[in-house]
Amino acid sequence: MKTHLHRIAVAIAVILLGGALFAAPVTAGLQEDITKGYSLIDQWRFEEAEAHTQSLMDTYPDSGDVLFLQARLVFYQGDYARALDLLGKVADSAPTVKEFKHHVRETHQATQGMVTRESEHFILRYTDGPDAVLVDYALDTLEKSYAVLGGILDHHPKEKVRVEIYPSREPFSRISPLTLQDIMTSGTVALCKYNRLMLISPGSLVRGYNWLDTISHEYVHFLLSSKSHNNVPLWLHEGIAKFLETRWRGEPRHLTPIMETVLANGLDNDYLIDFEAMMPSLAKLKTAEDVQLAYAEVATMVQYLVHLKGLEGLEALVAGLKDNRPIGDVLQTLVGKTLDRFQDDWKVYIKTQQLRRIPGLKVLKFQFKDKRDNGRAEDEDGERALIESRRARDLTMLGDILKSRDHIQAAIIEYRKAISESDTLSPVLYNKLADTYMITRKYDESETLLRQSLEYYPQFPSTLTNLGEVAFLRKDYEAAREYYQRAERINPFNPQVHQRLIRIYAALGENAKKGHQETLLALIK
Ligand SMILES: [Zn+2]
Repeated sequence: MKTHLHRIAVAIAVILLGGALFAAPVTAGLQEDITKGYSLIDQWRFEEAEAHTQSLMDTYPDSGDVLFLQARLVFYQGDYARALDLLGKVADSAPTVKEFKHHVRETHQATQGMVTRESEHFILRYTDGPDAVLVDYALDTLEKSYAVLGGILDHHPKEKVRVEIYPSREPFSRISPLTLQDIMTSGTVALCKYNRLMLISPGSLVRGYNWLDTISHEYVHFLLSSKSHNNVPLWLHEGIAKFLETRWRGEPRHLTPIMETVLANGLDNDYLIDFEAMMPSLAKLKTAEDVQLAYAEVATMVQYLVHLKGLEGLEALVAGLKDNRPIGDVLQTLVGKTLDRFQDDWKVYIKTQQLRRIPGLKVLKFQFKDKRDNGRAEDEDGERALIESRRARDLTMLGDILKSRDHIQAAIIEYRKAISESDTLSPVLYNKLADTYMITRKYDESETLLRQSLEYYPQFPSTLTNLGEVAFLRKDYEAAREYYQRAERINPFNPQVHQRLIRIYAALGENAKKGHQETLLALIK
């Protein structure tokens, strides 16, 4: 999950700053020119903003207002040290200046120790150490996104796009408008803002997350902002990003079982999140269920649009928004419907789509690690906390104790009781039982449980590694490779995944890939 946060109104800075800085008085002409500069930045027209600012610097070399404008531009261009330097020359009597200085200082601090790796179209910054394991995956996903999404939206940025990976949620919350509370409630772990992509390393979460789709999702936001001159409304931004986030890997399916379920229930109960409530960001909604519902609504609205007009229609819609045209007008021209009518018709359309409705399906809580301690197994207390029913939790604990003392059959009995005591399918519990079956070589029983769990929670990494393990033990290396690769995409910090892939690639004679896995494993040790 992630967010795109809307542009902040920066033009106001000009009014607050007028005359408050150096001696040079602000003339009406300069005021207008400066407003134009902010507006160009706000519209992500950085090339034009740079030329414009440069000409102002030449004409008014002593103006504090021009310096402040330049500092903002330089910040958006990613040179935080230089932005700070410029801001040092601006008096911070106005609150806008103070706030911006603080923000730039925080960003500079949080990124200071980062190292840089570049690909053809991207500049990736991350903290050296275990997060180096992310680099190859990230750049590969980004370059695929550049080609695939660039094709769909007919937009290929000329300048390299900057991407920052933050080691944990604390620095991420300091450099973004999201509070730690927003991050915990909504599960928002990435965003596209200030002309760059930012995300929290999956290494700071207990089970990782689908961070590669997330990077691609943020890149969709980037393309939309830059192609439309930042004029795509929030709901459409999120809808398109969600709809397209899996395309980089050739997967057109965009709804998860959770999204389908909350949407089906929402339509039944007439409980939907309206566009207003989605502002200023989905990350600010009150519960993780509401966040999923909002994504499901807007993504299926985009699906409906594509149903009507194809992917070309999507491109046409975004292109149409460019000259500050309102979405209602552009939609009317494109599909001949008002926005209200479009939403009404969407409801009719989506009800024909036979959404999966999985009873008792719950949004799993995001679990952050207290510390970055890669390689350590997930702790059992934290895992059990994900099991909903108290009684099932107690039985599971009993099963865990019995298993740890090698009373395997007795453990199986307790886990089975725990499952029958639960109203909801717990992927934690299913994996515990499946793993115990594996110890007794009951591979079929194990696989059946895991497949059921995967149907509900397709991205729960233990399910993927356990399915990989069943296939590995049966010497079905091709199936094992598939499952372990999927697990690797979600949590590349699990050493067991790389250890197994090394053996799988060796068995399949894929020596280059085996070597690559050995390199990755060394990075997280
Ligand atoms: Zn988003």
